[in-house]
Amino acid sequence: ETIGANLDRLAARFPERDALVECATGRRWTYREFVADVDALATGLLDAGIGKGDRVGIWAPNRSEWTLVQYATAKIGAILVNINPAYRAHELEYVLNQAGIRMLVSAKSFKTSDYVDLVEQVRPKCADLEQVVFLGDPEWERLAGASADAQRLAAIELSADDPINIQYTSGTTGFPKGATLSHHNILNNGFFVGELCGYTEVDRVAIVPPFYHCFGMVMGNLACTSHGAAMVIPAEGFDPVAALSAVAAERCTSLYGVPTMFIAELEHPRFAEFDLSSLRTGIMAGSPCPVEVMKQVIDRMGMREVSICYGMTETSPVSTQTRADDSLERRVSTVGRVGPHLEVKVVDPATGLTVPRGTPGELCTRGYSVMLGYWEQPDRTAEVIDAARWMHTGDLAVMDADGYVSITGRIKDMVIRGGENIYPREIEEFLYTHPDVVDAQVIGVPDARYGEELMAWVRLREGAEPLTAEALREFCTGKLAHYKIPRYVHLVDEFPMTVTGKIRKVEMRELAKNLLD
Ligand code: ATP
Ligand code: MG
Repeated sequence: ETIGANLDRLAARFPERDALVECATGRRWTYREFVADVDALATGLLDAGIGKGDRVGIWAPNRSEWTLVQYATAKIGAILVNINPAYRAHELEYVLNQAGIRMLVSAKSFKTSDYVDLVEQVRPKCADLEQVVFLGDPEWERLAGASADAQRLAAIELSADDPINIQYTSGTTGFPKGATLSHHNILNNGFFVGELCGYTEVDRVAIVPPFYHCFGMVMGNLACTSHGAAMVIPAEGFDPVAALSAVAAERCTSLYGVPTMFIAELEHPRFAEFDLSSLRTGIMAGSPCPVEVMKQVIDRMGMREVSICYGMTETSPVSTQTRADDSLERRVSTVGRVGPHLEVKVVDPATGLTVPRGTPGELCTRGYSVMLGYWEQPDRTAEVIDAARWMHTGDLAVMDADGYVSITGRIKDMVIRGGENIYPREIEEFLYTHPDVVDAQVIGVPDARYGEELMAWVRLREGAEPLTAEALREFCTGKLAHYKIPRYVHLVDEFPMTVTGKIRKVEMRELAKNLLD
């Protein structure tokens, strides 16, 4: 089934249910209204000369129009290219050219940036870019306000295996790569994520992570529409108060975020003002989910059935997920078991052979979710997808005897100190147990004697006494092996992050070099 056909089918079943709610503007769509607007926009795109296989870029924060463009492009078989709202001119130019974008749909501004200015700067350097449409301008009104032509739309020949979406990876470990995904890849992934969350037409999901990322558009939007649930957009960008008030006002049953977002919500001085009693479930994913934060999400936010998902853009994204009926211990401390119709294995990165259960190695995924490849980068695709179609994730994992997977870090973040492999994740989990520590991130820094030494970056609870390196080391003594005790401690108010809220350890390692000189 294609994404458009799936939407039509669910809309025919639940025409009067809410499909989309935009809290910032108060606008809302039932499924009937949503499909009508999607079809109008799809026809408008055809009128503008956009057809199957053409790349349409979307460079906008979380607005209702983003969602309309997502489904309208899928209906006509155009390839949607998600562009990170935090990109500046040179990154925008790279993506426009790399993906060969013919039409760019953009907001005029977001946060402090003037997008009009940035687009004008790069436009002369992008030969494929024929049309730029800013939301709210007459060109947008013309596209979105076209009269839907059901016959023309039905006549387009689509296959579920067509490429439908190019998503650039977060750029946590380096320059983003354009994962090319089909209807089959992302529609199935959204459906199974929603199924494991128990979604039905009564669910209302507060989609906080950005749409440009698969967390928002697949685990959020597609998980909702493939089950007839409502997509609730709390705000254009992350705002803890907007997220909490959207849950309260819209009686959301599910709330999404990366760990740092949940931390910001839980720590917010106004937290207690919001009635979160409608929450049943939610998803925490994207980066390591600290046990402490998971426990608080369950206890203080009432997200009894909350899932942790693990995945990556290249696998649509989700590969493993915890289920509501897993034991509490496993739900807070693992990323769950492999999802339906997928395979995972853990291999020794050096030999490629599967390691025994309980032994760390590189996680690999195979099945319907594996991307078609990196857009026009066959060499890089071949580096990560092997001849048997296994995707090598670059993540370190351990699988227990029952198939529960724990992510122990990224191969690139592993620290080797004096010949010992150290997984920063383990130390971070321990530091979280200190009563004054809100967030802790551990990196390796160069060291003449040991090759690498550990440095902990720590964010303290407001009002806490400054923590010295000595005091923190003392806290670790006797509880962590001596070589795992951080040598350096650096107190921070914030961490360098991607716009999805992921901590960029590459950047921390760069900054740490200056701290040591
Ligand atoms: P890039 O590939 O450009 O460096 P990225 O890998 O962060 O960036 P994404 O595809 O957005 O880009 O993120 C996938 C990665 O996020 C995974 O490979 C994994 O390292 C991390 N991740 C996702 N979910 C979890 C989780 N539940 N626990 C731990 N890590 C996770
Ligand atoms: Mg990656």
